[in-house]
Amino acid sequence: MLSLDENFDNLSIINSATNEKLLEIEIPEGQDKLIKKLKEVFPEESKAIDEYVEISFPPKYEIIPVIILKCFPFIFSKLFKYLVAPKFMNYVHTSIGQALDKLTSNQLLKSAICYIGIDYGSNPKATPLYEHSMIHNIFKNGGHIPKEGADDIVESLIKVIRKGGGDVMSKANVASIHINKEGKCGGVCVLKNKDSIIIESPIVISSAGVYNTYSKLIPRPIREKLGYNHFKYTPSYSVQATFLGYDGTIEELGLKFQNYFIMTNPDFDGQFTRYMESDGDIDPKNGIDIPILIANLRPYNNKVSMTILSFANHAWFQEWNHQRVGQRSVDYEDLKERIANRALELLYMKHPQLENRHSVMSTSSPITFNHYLSNNFGDYMGFKRVVGNDDGVFRWGRPMSNLENLFLVGQDIFAGGVQGAMLSALITCGCVLRRNLFDDLAKAVEEMKKWKALLFCFK
Ligand SMILES: Cc1cc2nc3c(=O)[nH]c(=O)nc-3n(C[C@H](O)[C@H](O)[C@H](O)COP(=O)(O)OP(=O)(O)OC[C@H]3O[C@@H](n4cnc5c(N)ncnc54)[C@H](O)[C@@H]3O)c2cc1C
Repeated sequence: MLSLDENFDNLSIINSATNEKLLEIEIPEGQDKLIKKLKEVFPEESKAIDEYVEISFPPKYEIIPVIILKCFPFIFSKLFKYLVAPKFMNYVHTSIGQALDKLTSNQLLKSAICYIGIDYGSNPKATPLYEHSMIHNIFKNGGHIPKEGADDIVESLIKVIRKGGGDVMSKANVASIHINKEGKCGGVCVLKNKDSIIIESPIVISSAGVYNTYSKLIPRPIREKLGYNHFKYTPSYSVQATFLGYDGTIEELGLKFQNYFIMTNPDFDGQFTRYMESDGDIDPKNGIDIPILIANLRPYNNKVSMTILSFANHAWFQEWNHQRVGQRSVDYEDLKERIANRALELLYMKHPQLENRHSVMSTSSPITFNHYLSNNFGDYMGFKRVVGNDDGVFRWGRPMSNLENLFLVGQDIFAGGVQGAMLSALITCGCVLRRNLFDDLAKAVEEMKKWKALLFCFK
C-alpha cells in the first residue's frame, strides 16, 4: 500500500455564491493530532470537539453484539436488538447532523467533521451516526491506496483463491442462483458466451449486492416464498466521476499527496438538497452547486492520475440508461460534461496551476456504474443506510439469507467502501465457518508485528 502524506486530507470550504474563501484545513492522521488540529482552528469550540470525540472515537456502541445479531437468524435481532445493543440502536436512529446540532452551531466545524460524507456517499442529515462514526474511525489513521491501483486487490485475492484450489471466471454473468432438488441453494447458473452453465456448489456467497441477489438472482417463485417480494431497497446516492491524467510528478504539479476536498457552502445539507433536487443545472449564485467534491491522486512512474468524485442524481441520466455505453446521445454527453466542467472550475480555484495541464480526461455518470458495476440506480455505494431504518441493518444487511446455503458479502452487509466490504468478508466467512475471524486477524497482525520487529533488529 502507498500511504498518503501525514496530513492526508485537505479541505477547502468556499461560498461559491460569493467566491469567498471560508476555511482551509489539513487533516492529520492520528486521533490526538486531529483533536489538536481542530482545537487550533476552532479554539472557541474545544468543548464541542471533546464531546464529538467522546461519541465517535472509537464508536461508543456495541460492535460485537451487533455482528453477532447480524449472524443469527433475523428473529433474534427483531426481538433483542434494543436489549443487546441499545446504544447502537440510538446511533441508528440519530443522524450525524442531529448529533452535531446538539454540540455546536458552528457550520464550519460541522463541515470539518462531515466532509468525509463524500467518502460514504451521503450528507449529514441523512446519515446514521453509526455509519459516520465507523467511517471516520476507519480514516483516522490516514489515507492509503493500493500501489498499482484497484487491480492490486483483485490480483492478491485471485492468488489466494487459486492457492486454495479455487478459480476465477471473468465476463461470466451469473444469471440466477441454482436451486437444487431439496429447494436449497445448490450453486449458480452462469452465462458464458451465450451458453448457460450450472456450477454446483454446497455454499454460494454472493458479492453482487443485496438488490441484485434478492431482486434478480433468486428465481422469482422462490423469492416470493422467502419473503423477498417485500424487500425495500433504498439505493445510495450516486456520483459523477471525472478521470484525469497528468504528465509530471505530484511535486511537479504543485500538489501534495493528499485527498483534496472542496465544499461550496458550509451548510452541507442545504447545498446538497438544492443540488440534488435540481435538474442538474448548476447555478452557484442561487446556491445550486456541486456541494462537495473529492480529488484523489495516484502517482505512477512520473505521472499522476486524478479521480474527481462529486454527487450526481441518477434520475438526471436515467432516460439514457437504455442506450449503449459510449454511444449515448449528445444531450447526455452535454449534461455529463457540464458537471465535469464545474468540478474542474472548482479544482482550478484551489489549484490554478492545473488548468489545461491534463493530458487525458474522461467522465462518467451514475448510469456508467450501472453498466460497469452492475448497479441498478447508479448506487455505487450499494444500500443507502438511512436514519431509523432498522430493517436495512438487520433484515437485509446480514450475511445469511433466508435461502439455505446462500450467503451475502460486501458493502451492503456492514459498511460502505472498500474497507467496509473487506470487514464484511470477515463477518460472512466467520458465519459460514462458525468461527470468530476477527480474533484470527488480530493474532495474524500480532504475529506480523513480531516478525517486523525481528527484521528491524537485523537491519
Ligand atoms: C469511481 C469510484 C471511486 C471509488 N473510490 C473509493 C475509495 O477511494 N475508497 C473506498 O473505500 N471506496 C471507493 N469506492 C467505493 C468502492 O468501490 C465500493 O464501496 C466497493 O467496491 C464495494 O465492494 P463490494 O464488493 O461490496 O461491491 P462491488 O465492488 O460493487 O462488487 C460487486 C461485483 O459484483 C458483480 N456482479 C453484480 N451482479 C453480477 C452478476 N449477476 N454476475 C456476476 N457478477 C455480478 C459486479 O460486476 C461487481 O464486480 C469508489 C467507487 C467508485 C465507483
